[in-house]
Amino acid sequence: MLEPVVETRPWEEQLALDDASYRAQLAYLLDRSAFYREKLGLATAEEAGGLAHVAALPLTEKHELKATATPENPVGAHLCAERSEIVRIYSTSGTTGTPSYIPLTARDLDDWITGSARSYSASGITAGQRIVSTYNAGPFVAGAALASFDAIGLCHIPVGTGNTERLVRAIELLRPEAAVLTPSYAAYLVEWTGERGVDLRGSSVERVLVAGEPGGGEPALRARLEEGWGARVTEAMGIGDIGISLWGECEEQHGMHLGARGFVHPELIDPATGESIPLDDGASGELVLTHLRHQAAPLLRFRTRDHVHVRTSVCPCGRTSPRVRCVGRTDDMLIVRGVNVFPTAVRDVVGAFAPRVSGHIRLRPTADGVKQEPPLPVAVELAEGVEPDEALAETIRERIRAVLVVSTRVELVPWGSLERSEYKGELVER
Ligand SMILES: [Zn+2]
Repeated sequence: MLEPVVETRPWEEQLALDDASYRAQLAYLLDRSAFYREKLGLATAEEAGGLAHVAALPLTEKHELKATATPENPVGAHLCAERSEIVRIYSTSGTTGTPSYIPLTARDLDDWITGSARSYSASGITAGQRIVSTYNAGPFVAGAALASFDAIGLCHIPVGTGNTERLVRAIELLRPEAAVLTPSYAAYLVEWTGERGVDLRGSSVERVLVAGEPGGGEPALRARLEEGWGARVTEAMGIGDIGISLWGECEEQHGMHLGARGFVHPELIDPATGESIPLDDGASGELVLTHLRHQAAPLLRFRTRDHVHVRTSVCPCGRTSPRVRCVGRTDDMLIVRGVNVFPTAVRDVVGAFAPRVSGHIRLRPTADGVKQEPPLPVAVELAEGVEPDEALAETIRERIRAVLVVSTRVELVPWGSLERSEYKGELVER
């Protein structure tokens, strides 16, 4: 364990420490954040009470922040730090126009790296081992995660995305104990090496650390990756506006612990109503995060759009923070006659039909928007050499109906016909 004193602290004690941090953070926001001064409408921070009352405060949506960005203040009205205090500015991929900017002070950056290092080291990787990474740092927050490998004391071999040949060569020649990549790319590697007769199973890699998208925790996909790599798969998860690799899974593989404990406070809400859901064992809902000691652009009750399952039972690893498993992004969710359908959940059900299926699927909704009429069309790719078979399609359709309570039209498509991704995979095709 990287920081045993912190990571095994009883959660109640952590909450007591977090309560003090939260009260100070709230006072800081009222002092420095034009965005929150207006949004909260509080005369004093004391008025809001402590962390136990955080759910009474309004939620923060990404678009609200974006709406306050101006040419004079491109970050937005939630910016709290002076220009001279900011040491780094990341940006989002900006698929919807101008990117969002994410500024950090030196302490913010340090906290990000500390939390990320705890999360990644939970996987069991230790100082002196080698890790090959496939993130293209560029303008994106994922770049900061790379610094956490130094903090753990690893030998870091950056390879970047988009050059599989180079990655496989690095694994063969430099013999890293771990690889970090998206689950989509990890799956792609299994197929790529299989087609070329490269023995990935027999490689030096003992741990595959996946992050960047949901999927690493789905039993079927995880089984496929562990089989293909001959390695243990654990996942990590962050959210750009809040922090990198906030959560990291331990060797027990029962969900991701909060590595960023002390820096971030987690909550759950019902995504439809915004109502708070207690963070109890077995609970599920959308993850909402609050910065506890952030300086540059702290956020309060930020909606992550990540839908998670929570575990708070004792973990044999000794870490005491709650654990989460991401079920999918609220943004990817479809609603079929009132039933919420996460594409990742469909993939998991279908993946259990391996070795007859490849594990690749596409949802092909017919209507624009979230709401769909049944049956929902699902393309299911067959494994190599498997012939289409109406009975198999029917069995898959019935299993999806039984598990997810949604009616689908399953179309079996030949091996290799659904596009693979060397970065993040798309499960919905419109
Ligand atoms: Zn654990």
